[in-house]
Amino acid sequence: MLNLKNVSKTFGKQHALDNISLQFPKNKTSVIVGPSGSGKSTLLRSLNLLEKPEAGEYDFNDLKIDFGQKKLSSKTILQIRRKTSMVFQGFNLFPHLTVVKNVMEGQVQVLGKSKDEARTEALHLLDKVGMKDKADAYPSQLSGGQAQRVAIARSLAMHPEYILLDEPTSALDPEIELEVLKVLLELAKEKQSLVIVTHNLTFAQRVADKITFIEDGKVGFDGPTEEFFSSDDSRIKDFLAAMS
Ligand code: ADP
Ligand code: MG
Repeated sequence: MLNLKNVSKTFGKQHALDNISLQFPKNKTSVIVGPSGSGKSTLLRSLNLLEKPEAGEYDFNDLKIDFGQKKLSSKTILQIRRKTSMVFQGFNLFPHLTVVKNVMEGQVQVLGKSKDEARTEALHLLDKVGMKDKADAYPSQLSGGQAQRVAIARSLAMHPEYILLDEPTSALDPEIELEVLKVLLELAKEKQSLVIVTHNLTFAQRVADKITFIEDGKVGFDGPTEEFFSSDDSRIKDFLAAMS
């Protein structure tokens, strides 16, 4: 279980996160939605310690961080990054490495696996995301959807407890988006713990065990998916209407 308690983050005068308390359960898919600029990316990046909030508590199993008190040690940051892997909107593959080497790299450099072991695992994961036949291609030869599936395989190869995805399909054409969403639906079915920021509410409704609605850096809703989509709350209804 990953917990945030009373977490705040400001950029100058801007309250990106305003006293946020949330839980992200293990083996579940948590989806974060909300208007542009509401703090979704800042929230996700805080889970991975890419942002350091200035107040609040972060609790990951027995690892506790008090954002207000402590400068984060590089050891803590590494520990958290091993447990939470981020998949970005723009894929961020290494352009000079082939697809299979992209998926091997972290296994060899960070997990200390042999190249043979890493290659076997990489090919297995590429097969899982439907990209095995492109193992020897370079990222520049892939479509956006293919690149994103490789990026997901690369995250899986690190066996993180949570995979965090920030609008993983918003750079993709709708017909290409579907191939990535299918992979995520499959991971959700396998009980991989996921935290997904998305604008695709049809997908959110289908994949999410729970929905968090963020508005102006605050939690406007946090609860079961069905409850969110059938809410009587006028702010939620307005948001849903604006997005459809
Ligand atoms: P979302 O992902 O929901 O669109 P963000 O988390 O990116 O929202 O941003 C929340 C607020 O914090 C916005 O007002 C944004 O302009 C501001 N913000 C985010 N990152 C930075 C930054 N690095 N420097 C200054 N302001 C930022
Ligand atoms: Mg964002």
